[in-house]
Amino acid sequence: MTSSSTSSSAVRSSAKHAAERIQQHLPPSNPASLSSSSLNLPSKTSIAASINHSPRPKERPSSTASSVSAASPSTRRSGTPVHRSQSKDFDEDNDPGRVRVSVRVRPRNGEELKSDADFADLVELQPEIKRLKLRKNNWNSESYRFDEVFTDTASQKRVYEGVAKPVVEGVLSGYNGTIMAYGQTGTGKTYTVGKIGKDDAAERGIMVRALEDILASASSASSVSVEISYLQLYMETIQDLLAPEKSNISINEDGKTGEVSVPGATVVNIQDLDHFFQVLQVGETNRHAANTKMNTESSRSHAILTVYVRRAMNEKAETGTKSPKPESLGDKGIPRVRKSKLLIVDLAGSERINKSGTDGHLIEEAKFINLSLTSLGKCINALAEGSSHIPTRDSKLTRLLRDSFGGSARTSLIITIGPSARYHAETTSTIMFGQRQQQLESSAYKEKLADASKVYEKKIADLVQRVEDEQARSTNAEHQLNEMKNILSNQQKSIHDQEMGNYQYQRELAEATYTYESKIAELQKKLEDEHARSNSAEEQLRQMKSIISDRQVLSQENEETNELKKKLEELSQMYESTVDELQTVKLDYDDLLHQKEKLGEEVRDMKERLLLEEKQRKQMESELSKLKKNLRESETVVEDKRVKEDLPKGPSESGALPGSQRSHGLKKSLSGQRATMARLCEEGMILSREFSLILFWGNPIDIFVSTSVSVGVQKILHLIKSEDLEVQIQAVKVVANLAAEESNQVKIVEEGGVEALLTLVQSSQNSTILRVASGAIANLAMNEKSQDLIMNKGGAQLLAKMVTKTDDPQTLRMVAGALANLCGNEKFLKLLKEEEGIKGLLTMAQSGNIDIIAQVARGMANFAKCETREIMQGRRKGRSLLLEEGALEWLTSNSHIESASTQRHIELALCHLAQNEANAIDFKRTGSVTEIVRISVESSRDDIRSLAKKILRSNPQFSS
Ligand code: ADP
Ligand code: MG
Repeated sequence: MTSSSTSSSAVRSSAKHAAERIQQHLPPSNPASLSSSSLNLPSKTSIAASINHSPRPKERPSSTASSVSAASPSTRRSGTPVHRSQSKDFDEDNDPGRVRVSVRVRPRNGEELKSDADFADLVELQPEIKRLKLRKNNWNSESYRFDEVFTDTASQKRVYEGVAKPVVEGVLSGYNGTIMAYGQTGTGKTYTVGKIGKDDAAERGIMVRALEDILASASSASSVSVEISYLQLYMETIQDLLAPEKSNISINEDGKTGEVSVPGATVVNIQDLDHFFQVLQVGETNRHAANTKMNTESSRSHAILTVYVRRAMNEKAETGTKSPKPESLGDKGIPRVRKSKLLIVDLAGSERINKSGTDGHLIEEAKFINLSLTSLGKCINALAEGSSHIPTRDSKLTRLLRDSFGGSARTSLIITIGPSARYHAETTSTIMFGQRQQQLESSAYKEKLADASKVYEKKIADLVQRVEDEQARSTNAEHQLNEMKNILSNQQKSIHDQEMGNYQYQRELAEATYTYESKIAELQKKLEDEHARSNSAEEQLRQMKSIISDRQVLSQENEETNELKKKLEELSQMYESTVDELQTVKLDYDDLLHQKEKLGEEVRDMKERLLLEEKQRKQMESELSKLKKNLRESETVVEDKRVKEDLPKGPSESGALPGSQRSHGLKKSLSGQRATMARLCEEGMILSREFSLILFWGNPIDIFVSTSVSVGVQKILHLIKSEDLEVQIQAVKVVANLAAEESNQVKIVEEGGVEALLTLVQSSQNSTILRVASGAIANLAMNEKSQDLIMNKGGAQLLAKMVTKTDDPQTLRMVAGALANLCGNEKFLKLLKEEEGIKGLLTMAQSGNIDIIAQVARGMANFAKCETREIMQGRRKGRSLLLEEGALEWLTSNSHIESASTQRHIELALCHLAQNEANAIDFKRTGSVTEIVRISVESSRDDIRSLAKKILRSNPQFSS
């Protein structure tokens, strides 16, 4: 049930009565407020004092309509003109005194958007039918009618047009008017009414828009003045917002005319909209400042903007127009003034203020605010009821409004609500505030309601008729049913009779049944057979499926096979590269074998030389013994002679015979030689013998031998440092022989042999020593451990220097061999180059000696192989170090050399270098690509040919 329907018939009749009365008392075409004063508009400063509103009694005039047209001020009421303004809404109701009520919902703010989803559940806006549905409790909701329902998307312009424009038009036509905003704080009263929107015209509120319209109308007629005052009403005290120092302004009511004025208030004549913006802004600022000073909020005070419109009326001009007639006529042609005013009120927040606070100020404040709003409500109520007494005296707010609402004045109330379930209670009370006079007032609505009731009553009557019809039909049906029942029982009886007669048939039936049953059994058997068949078919199907799935597995396996194939391909690629490497290793191995053979030859040479030397030594020994024998003999002869000549026995201190002296020196020197030789023989012989043993046995893992060697090596190395050149030479030779055997190399290195040999090479000028020592170093350079030592001790540099120190081909061959061995260790590539080992090798190659060149080629191959391996494994990149020394040119120009093994080394070196793409430019520059092509065809070795072919295939720079 809607609240509107609660209105009793008594209320309805009273509203109707009020409406009638208002119509009876419609005044004739009297202007709103005309004074006979001339249109000398006051200056801004004197404006407040000079404003003189025409009398406008609030009370209904006691005189009849016709008497209103009389000039008596006491019977004048503010304009309820004969002609109606264009605002059809007010016309429709034919009741200017009715308070127009609209409702507006504020858009949700951020917080409400986030947390408040229930609002739609509580309030439902129906703008098309101008209704608002409010949920009362869990079970029902009520629907209220408004003049306008604005949703949260309604623009300021639409609100102005729906709420304020009719009132503004009334004011321009000479009637007073009031526009008020009522609602809980924060729901948009100030936004709706007072928003300035100086820069954004769309945002402007009612005050600004009203002034725009009024000023526009004023500009079209020069005789119009527009003035404003802006007041604040707080705790029943009026403050002037345009002159804050005026803090207790009193209200003046003309006893005769009922006109309300505020003589103390500042009145400002408004020139244009910009001027109004300024004044309004001042007012806003003062309102804010005043509230701060009073320690309150603007929501607790009412802001009242009054717009005074005065229009000079020329009687002549007025004749024939539909404008309200000037009521006071002066002499002909003297202009009269028609005055009207518009009050725009931003009411205090409607929320109930807690009166139980302990703060006395708050209690007072609550009392006053509640008072003014309550009193406003009462006035609206009385107005709606058409009561003869409007209780405006109760508060200052209603006193101020007295001549501007009800009667001929137009009043519009906009109530604002917030879109949140939280405000439910306040929203409800706000809506009830706006609604109570709405429902009381709306006779048209009530008529509609009555019409609707009639419609429904008719519908109900129809329904009742239909129910009655239905009842008649059902009685009829019942009757028919009984008849049917009778027929049925009769038929049952006859069936029973027939059953008795059916016995024979039953027998026949039994027979037939038997026949059919046996047929069924047969069929069942068949069915079973079929079942079995189908089972076997199923079984077959299953097998097929499993075959298929096997196939699938197979195909999966196929995929796996493919994968395996791929892997296999990868593996075979790997295999190929391994084979390549293997070939390289094989080449190395061959090389080593070759070297071993050569070394074997050298060792044999050495052995022969040793045997020769031993033979010489034996000869020397025998000569020595002969010499000894001769000596003894000559001594005996001398002794005999002395005995014979009776000479003293020993040599005298003072003078010995020269012959005897000579023989004594000789003796001494001989004995020194003897000692050296004896020592040398003793040690050298042992070592040489042991060395021979090692050579013959090939695999000399013999404790005796190795122990002897270890003892011997120490001694021999000691002898290397001897100052006796012969001893040094012999010692170096022994060391060289020992170093030829791998098993001795470690021992020699451990005993400091490398250092001793390097020192020798550095310091000695003797060519034999240099040659033999170089050979020893070359042998030791085959051992990795000694390679480390050689390089660490600056061996590469020393060896390279030998190039300048000697031109003995034998020595140089040894040096080249040593360097070539060092080239086979990837650790030393950079160091070898830096210490000029490569340069040394290439210099030696200029000698033209075939043996030296063989070593150089071997060194190049070793170096290139190590370097390329490093590059392939990503440990090094860039152009080969060999190229900087001109190795490529040398290799290319010597690749046709006669010696097969040297050529092989050169070819290998070229192929290794060609594998490094960073060398490609050099290959092109030196024409070495042609050489690779030649090798791929002509090389005597299969493996080298295939290596060259592979390079040509894989390196795009070479294939072009
Ligand atoms: P009140 O005067 O009733 O206390 P305000 O007018 O100050 O409320 O409005 C509270 C806030 O909501 C203000 O920030 C105002 O700008 C905003 N607001 C109110 N109504 C609207 C609207 N229709 N559209 C946009 N913002 C609004
Ligand atoms: Mg406000």
